[in-house]
Amino acid sequence: MIPPQFDYIRASSIDEAVDILSEDPNAKALAGGQSLIPLLKLRAAAPSKLVDIGRLKELRYVRQAGDGLAVGALATHAELERWAGPCGVLPEAARQIGDPQIRSMGTIGGSLAHADPAADWPAVVLALGAVVKARGPSGLREVPAEEFFQGPYSTALQQGELIVEVSIPRCPPRASYVKIAKTHNDFAIAGVAAAVWAKDGVVEEVRLAATGVGLKPVRLRKAEEAIRGRKIAGDLLAEVAEAASREVEPVSDVRASAEYRRAMAGVAARRALRRALGL
Ligand SMILES: Cc1cc2nc3c(=O)[nH]c(=O)nc-3n(C[C@H](O)[C@H](O)[C@H](O)COP(=O)(O)OP(=O)(O)OC[C@H]3O[C@@H](n4cnc5c(N)ncnc54)[C@H](O)[C@@H]3O)c2cc1C
Repeated sequence: MIPPQFDYIRASSIDEAVDILSEDPNAKALAGGQSLIPLLKLRAAAPSKLVDIGRLKELRYVRQAGDGLAVGALATHAELERWAGPCGVLPEAARQIGDPQIRSMGTIGGSLAHADPAADWPAVVLALGAVVKARGPSGLREVPAEEFFQGPYSTALQQGELIVEVSIPRCPPRASYVKIAKTHNDFAIAGVAAAVWAKDGVVEEVRLAATGVGLKPVRLRKAEEAIRGRKIAGDLLAEVAEAASREVEPVSDVRASAEYRRAMAGVAARRALRRALGL
């Protein structure tokens, strides 16, 4: 279908984009366009203005920051797929998103702002304990990933705010992201990211997060509790799968029934932990 009419403005700075977005509640930022353009074509969105932030080079980077990483909002899935530094879970997750065309245009900031309840990055940033940095009319705000996702397609972003960076405070030494989907370029039926810190063969700290199995991405806290402080061994896997399946609250849709998603949450959790621990 043909999108409804809108004005197109190519922002030449973050400040300019924030100014326009704060003045007009019906204006929308355009990053890679891989979620917004399909919505426009379906006429499921009808913004008055599209503020194209896609050429703001200052938002396009991935760099080490202390023990963690700073990822600019406009880093594309493909750039993260090619990232060869710490936090190897980023390329592992990126290559599971869509197809090469989507990955070369779509951005991490766009994915988080869009907040599709089955998108891949939200589970990964939750497991990494990331902080979303947003610039708005009143300056810079830092929102922990756990508070950022509020429901399907709904986030803590306020009017006029742009995600500028995803900050990962500490790259886990062991991490993995496993996605179960019908086809490679489809959204997750269930996806689980696991980040693990271990010492002397014992799990010291673990963060597990799931997507596709509820109205928003969630931490799998019961599954985490089941393995925190335990010796790394094969029996952890069955326990984590059981706990993850029990604690998620999936809904049925065209892709899968709630029961199937629940079962796959367990499978994805088990596989993610197995890969992270190298079992
Ligand atoms: C065929 C297909 C398959 C896909 N498969 C997957 C998949 O397997 N897994 C997956 O996770 N995703 C998938 N996607 C979605 C894809 O990852 C998108 O790239 C992503 O959801 C949005 O990023 P974008 O840069 O394209 O954002 P856009 O489409 O430009 O914007 C999306 C929304 O975010 C807002 N926005 C964008 N950037 C910012 C910012 N910096 N600050 C504030 N708001 C912002 C926009 O206003 C808009 O509301 C798929 C998409 C398609 C079309």
